[in-house]
Amino acid sequence: MSLAELRRLFGDRLIEDPVIVALYSRDASLEPRPAGAIGVVLPESEEEVVELVRWAVRNRAPLYPQGSATSLSGSAAATSPGVVVSFERMARMELRPEDGIAVVEPGVRLEELNAELARHGLFFPVDPGSAMSATVGGLVASGGGGMCGVRYGTVRDWVLGLRVVTGRGDVLKIGCRTLKCRSGYDLVRLFVGSEGTLGLITEAALRLAPLPESAAALLVYYDDVEALAGDVARVRAGRVWPLFAEYMDAEASALVGLERRHALFIGVESPAGAEGAALERLESLLRGEVARRAAGWAAAAGLLEPRRRLFAAQAARAREGGGVLVVEDVAVPPSRLAEAVRVLRALAERHGLPLIIGGHVGEGNLHPATWCGADGGQRLREFLRDVAALVAGLGGTVSAEHGVGALKRELVALELGERALAYMRELKRVFDPHGILNPGKVV
Ligand SMILES: Cc1cc2nc3c(=O)[nH]c(=O)nc-3n(C[C@H](O)[C@H](O)[C@H](O)COP(=O)(O)OP(=O)(O)OC[C@H]3O[C@@H](n4cnc5c(N)ncnc54)[C@H](O)[C@@H]3O)c2cc1C
Repeated sequence: MSLAELRRLFGDRLIEDPVIVALYSRDASLEPRPAGAIGVVLPESEEEVVELVRWAVRNRAPLYPQGSATSLSGSAAATSPGVVVSFERMARMELRPEDGIAVVEPGVRLEELNAELARHGLFFPVDPGSAMSATVGGLVASGGGGMCGVRYGTVRDWVLGLRVVTGRGDVLKIGCRTLKCRSGYDLVRLFVGSEGTLGLITEAALRLAPLPESAAALLVYYDDVEALAGDVARVRAGRVWPLFAEYMDAEASALVGLERRHALFIGVESPAGAEGAALERLESLLRGEVARRAAGWAAAAGLLEPRRRLFAAQAARAREGGGVLVVEDVAVPPSRLAEAVRVLRALAERHGLPLIIGGHVGEGNLHPATWCGADGGQRLREFLRDVAALVAGLGGTVSAEHGVGALKRELVALELGERALAYMRELKRVFDPHGILNPGKVV
């Protein structure tokens, strides 16, 4: 495959320096070790993306779309010698506050978007733990959620329309730029979570929410996870709709400097000046030991800070232990949360693996994290397979929000069955007949 034509098309926006290309070839999952791209292209317009896809079709060259490469499932890694398509230069945004929408290019970072929207009293409420660097394109393509998922759902609830370039080089405008539309099959939902395997997203129309005036939050400790899950259920039954309900097990709490006990971070929206009443109402529903109270946005964000630090702390602990961190992403019905935590721990012990669990407990989404040295790969794979079986037995899924990527293909096949996967592969052939878009991912 010659890059000469790409050099002509993109000039210095084709990166060939092997050191930089190697950095772009991986994502935050760190595994599997990517084969590595041979170049990185930074398109600046949809027309350039079309040109790039046409080149890739002619050369049968794999394209690896990438936002900020914070994927934890290996979905943004270049797993064969191909070209990384980084959308960092496509970051224009058009805010339409009067219509309650924003139309943005894929490289817009979520934090930037929300900084602009705050001036209009609006926000885009899907906030993954990586929101500081994650992009709209990456979030939409991975179908992710975030800390406020219990209140606002996942990204698929907030995408109204998309422009995409398919693996045939066609530009499709799908969905709409209005708050409602029913125009044919819902291709938007198909593309949300397609992880760059069906088309390259060049524009997204997003629904926006009014920025709540204020928030109030609690950090609550428990000696057992059953009591914690019971409190989450009690809040739900008490007709309080939390803004977030985040969990850390005793190991996770100790790792980020809290007491070695199960911790619940629970917050609610509140009118300005009424935070005290909101906290009182929340506390009246809880049986755990309230350790910290926060009134107002800044204080609630501060209260969540140890939870946001968990990933970095886990990664550091894994490195100390001579291993690479693997963060699982399971969801179970909330009524089975405590059971899930208990059996996950028993499973890790049986496999002789360390385990630290955090998660978005309001949606039953747990992130059990483990690691082992180079000699433990087989043990790790067996553990992950057992986790999949366990979660299936609890009526759950192994892929709640991080996506399938390169890491979860086998587990998702077990969960959905071969027939469903065969239909997905057929769909992939419709949009990407030459198999150039993010090969080796999802299906
Ligand atoms: C510390 C940390 C916390 C995290 N917390 C969460 C969380 O709370 N919730 C959650 O859901 N995830 C979380 N993640 C995972 C990840 O950050 C999110 O999935 C994020 O949305 C990915 O955005 P990105 O811009 O980094 O995308 P990337 O990682 O670059 O890409 C993700 C996927 O999107 C594809 N893609 C990117 N841009 C395009 C495009 N323009 N067109 C087509 N395909 C494209 C890529 O090929 C890849 O398949 C976390 C990760 C980290 C490291």
